[in-house]
Amino acid sequence: MNIHPWQGGLWKQLMDAPEKLPHALLLTGPAGLGKQDFALAMAACLLCEAPQTAATGGPAACGECCSCSWLAAGNHPDFRLVQPDAAEETAETESDSDAVTKTTNKTRQGKAVGVATSMARVGTGSGTLRIEQIRELTDFVFVGSHRQGRRIVVLEPAEAMTPAAANALLKVLEEPPASVCFILISHAWRRLLPTIRSRCRIVNFGQPDPRQAAAWLKAAGIKEAESVLQLAGGAPLLARNWAQQDMLPVYRKALEPLLQPGNDPVAMAQKWSALLKADSAFDLAQLVDIVQKWLADLIQMTLADSLRYHRDPAWQKALQAQAKRSNAAALLAFDRELRRIRGVARHPLNTQLFLEDMAARYLRATVAR
Ligand SMILES: [Zn+2]
Repeated sequence: MNIHPWQGGLWKQLMDAPEKLPHALLLTGPAGLGKQDFALAMAACLLCEAPQTAATGGPAACGECCSCSWLAAGNHPDFRLVQPDAAEETAETESDSDAVTKTTNKTRQGKAVGVATSMARVGTGSGTLRIEQIRELTDFVFVGSHRQGRRIVVLEPAEAMTPAAANALLKVLEEPPASVCFILISHAWRRLLPTIRSRCRIVNFGQPDPRQAAAWLKAAGIKEAESVLQLAGGAPLLARNWAQQDMLPVYRKALEPLLQPGNDPVAMAQKWSALLKADSAFDLAQLVDIVQKWLADLIQMTLADSLRYHRDPAWQKALQAQAKRSNAAALLAFDRELRRIRGVARHPLNTQLFLEDMAARYLRATVAR
């Protein structure tokens, strides 16, 4: 597992002196920046029996020793990756607006989608980490190392812990067993217990330089790299995931009712409804996410005359026109409302009504003046 080109600085900071690493790290930042890949690369490097010097400088796992082979095979005795069980998915831990969107493993248009495992659950924000999972971990960390070396625990996403699980983990972090390194990953660190945060060294993953990220996407064979990167809020792995799932055409279609909203919420809702029916891999939660991003840009355009996601000239023009007749307070109120109904979007009682309601609220906020 390699780190990404935009992570070289952080890697150097942490890994140049691995013996000085604290017993708990908290990797924070929006989803789609490659925090999990980074954590797994750290684990591989710390467990490796013969670390090499990476081309970019700093140590790297050799990829050949017993430890590296076990890790690749998923059966290293001194490593644990703790994630929500896929089957346990619930809407309990709604993701924040930055921990953008749902990523799916569904097949779009018959194409097999090679989504990296690291992205399979990043950003869904659903599923919880249960207390039983932390208890199993306690057994692991308090029993001695199998190989007289370090033991590594990667836990992701930390905000998915139930309160009971978080308290159980806190007890472990309060009296950390020697030679165990916890790497917690969070896309929404504010939701963590302050007592957990204070026991970890916080490593903040900022947004990569857009040119570097776009170059990385192009090298991965992604077309329209700049556009898709912008829509993904500058998160390269999320952008890659979308491109591989052919999300861009769907995204554009989902925006059409917002570009020319007219004044009929039922007509807007029908367009969205047709899109959802035509594409089984596109769901309501993703649509709400797109509306949320559009709204975020509309608010930014109204208040600060700038944009984050939709810099395509046609979109920009529509946003400018709508910003002129929108009311900032109404937009902000709609934004709060959308955050509230996000959870419902996973299991709406009546999709058509949900869409009409969302359209009506949008129209009220944009023609309020
Ligand atoms: Zn190795």
